[in-house]
Amino acid sequence: MTNTLLPTSIVGSLPKPAWLAQPEVLWSPWELSGDALVEGKQDALRAAVHEQRRRGLDIISDGEQTRQHFVTTFIEHLDGVDFSRRETVRIRDRYDASVPTVVGAVSRRQPVFVDDAVFLREQTDQPIKWALPGPMTMIDTLADRHYASREKLAWEFATILNQEARELEAAGVDVIQFDEPAFNVFFDEMKDWGIAALERAAEGLRAETVVHICYGYGIKANNDWKATLGDEWRQYEESFPLLQRSTIDVVSLESHHSHVPLELIELVRGKKVMLGAIDVASDEIESPEDVADTLRRALAFVDADKLIPSTNCGMAPLPRGVAHDKLSALVAGADIVRSELAGSDAPR
Ligand SMILES: [Zn+2]
Repeated sequence: MTNTLLPTSIVGSLPKPAWLAQPEVLWSPWELSGDALVEGKQDALRAAVHEQRRRGLDIISDGEQTRQHFVTTFIEHLDGVDFSRRETVRIRDRYDASVPTVVGAVSRRQPVFVDDAVFLREQTDQPIKWALPGPMTMIDTLADRHYASREKLAWEFATILNQEARELEAAGVDVIQFDEPAFNVFFDEMKDWGIAALERAAEGLRAETVVHICYGYGIKANNDWKATLGDEWRQYEESFPLLQRSTIDVVSLESHHSHVPLELIELVRGKKVMLGAIDVASDEIESPEDVADTLRRALAFVDADKLIPSTNCGMAPLPRGVAHDKLSALVAGADIVRSELAGSDAPR
């Protein structure tokens, strides 16, 4: 995706400007409508790109400025899903949410994010990354009254995601990321068909492919869940050996301030690792040295040419200034380790 050593990238969302959506609230409704909303989303995307470039990020994302929710905004554009028929389901076995219902065969009428990706492509010559929900996480955010099989529905979504991903690639997207937090929860299904569905979604892509698995945004339901996980979070132990053998190129994981034992990274040896060196559940800005320390410790388990310094998850709920300063910390921390690596290679 880039020849830079330790290329920096965010996982996903950035806070939206206050004129577009209410700040520091997840999934908050739009403040604009009609043509003003279209223009407002583009302006926000432009600002997100500007801020990432100004702070020195290497791989540029849209900051998810054009979507309200990382899963439902995609689903909204599909046929077969009734958004007026809502049911309350338990999301990732953790919290209840009112979700739309699958009432017929699902299909993609037209591209969902491709116009937005074309717009992002126009803003920068740097490599760009686009995130899509993973098939298993999609079915976990819905009620199904048609397929009566999570596996079957996931397979349909994987086919749809693959269509979208191919068009994003054709629009000039260099890196396509699938968000699969459900892989940290539903281990049996992940092994039975989750990984296969993910590979189906990524099938035939020339763009680099990423799977992002995390412990979620810093919201109360997630923080309460994390408190029950004990001193060592070993959930990745279930997915990493399978991902190591999968067709996916990059594994994105949470690390800084988490209880994930770093040695678990060894389980995906050979893959690129997008390492969370920024905590998204805290307003405290990491120092460059904090970031560098996290990266240095990870380098025991991943080759330097395969390490992508990143954030633990999306930053949508953070105050805008905090998120932007965290970008600077990420870049400064990566710079420290990059010069250390350059120094160690230099002849003495
Ligand atoms: Zn995440």
